[in-house]
Amino acid sequence: MDGESTKRIRDENREQHGRKKRRSDCGEKMKARNEKRKLQEKPLVTGCIRFYVKSEDDKVSVYNKMDKIKLCMAEKVSSVTNEQVLNAVFDFYLQLNGLVDDANDERNFNFQPYLPCDKKSTDEDMFLTTYSAMRNICSGIQHHNQTCTELLDVKKLQRFGHTAKVTFTCKDNHLVTADSSQHLPGGLFLANLRMIHSVYATGVRYSQYKRICDSANIGIVPESAFESHHNLYCSMTEDLAKESIKDAINEEVTAEVLKAEENDVPFYGINIMTDARHGWRRNAAQSDVVAIGQTHHRVVGLAVVTRQDDPVSQRHEIRGVENLYQHFDENDTSINIHGHDRNASVNKYLAVHQPQLVRRSDAKYNFAAFSYLDKLLP
Ligand SMILES: [Zn+2]
Repeated sequence: MDGESTKRIRDENREQHGRKKRRSDCGEKMKARNEKRKLQEKPLVTGCIRFYVKSEDDKVSVYNKMDKIKLCMAEKVSSVTNEQVLNAVFDFYLQLNGLVDDANDERNFNFQPYLPCDKKSTDEDMFLTTYSAMRNICSGIQHHNQTCTELLDVKKLQRFGHTAKVTFTCKDNHLVTADSSQHLPGGLFLANLRMIHSVYATGVRYSQYKRICDSANIGIVPESAFESHHNLYCSMTEDLAKESIKDAINEEVTAEVLKAEENDVPFYGINIMTDARHGWRRNAAQSDVVAIGQTHHRVVGLAVVTRQDDPVSQRHEIRGVENLYQHFDENDTSINIHGHDRNASVNKYLAVHQPQLVRRSDAKYNFAAFSYLDKLLP
């Protein structure tokens, strides 16, 4: 083959591979590069894997797959040798099918299904995570492992309140970033909002919540976040509470009407039990007076009495009971039996204003229900 036709074939090849001819592809520069290549250390052993296919297309298909894998491993096909790609593919397949000797497999080096805790790791940062987020992290790692055989390790762990943004990286500097909790519309972390909900719903004060979180080392949501959600949370829970109370009253009425029909007696109304609890033990600023139905033990009425309503906290229960009867009137609900603890003013109020009532002022009236009420009002 003469020099001219070799050059033509080379140019055609270049055209096919989309590589432009550069100035360094001829003259002194090319000669210098070829000299350098000659000096490079040649491999001592050559291996040959021969494969047989039915058509030229099948052969090209194998080569194309090989190039694709090389491009996954590096930016250029030419920077990965055939030996490197074969080893990577073989290792990946063997690993995938559990055919690697564990002792020689560094990929298994730090996985332990039962992870013991040493003294040093007791102070590690903790964060909340969810089922969906764990699955997402698994997907991210699996996606990386499909294209890279290097091991992933935690590079960075940034905490946002109770959640964390975790960044994994491998020796090839691939990055996999995932959050420990999913986001709600608007971008807030579910786990953080759930904790805000738990603080509001249990009546724990911010300082107490902070102490718990500090001791447990589970991160903390700043007070400003609580303040920004306060109004929305209050209006929504108020609506839900009203709905729940309405449902509970309907349930009690239905149960009592059925009972009256069964026993062939007139329906006088529902049976309730009430009790009051002060918001704080000392110098009560507010009291919750709660009425629960006798049959289903669900809250059928709630009255909150504050110091502004009555400065004397001992009078809060009777004020609450008055408000409750107003609430039952507004809901067209009549009361038949009212059980409560020994509170003289409540007794007096019921005797004067609700003479139709059967009054039970002893705890034996319905011990189970009262103990339930006790649990409801800590
Ligand atoms: Zn990687």
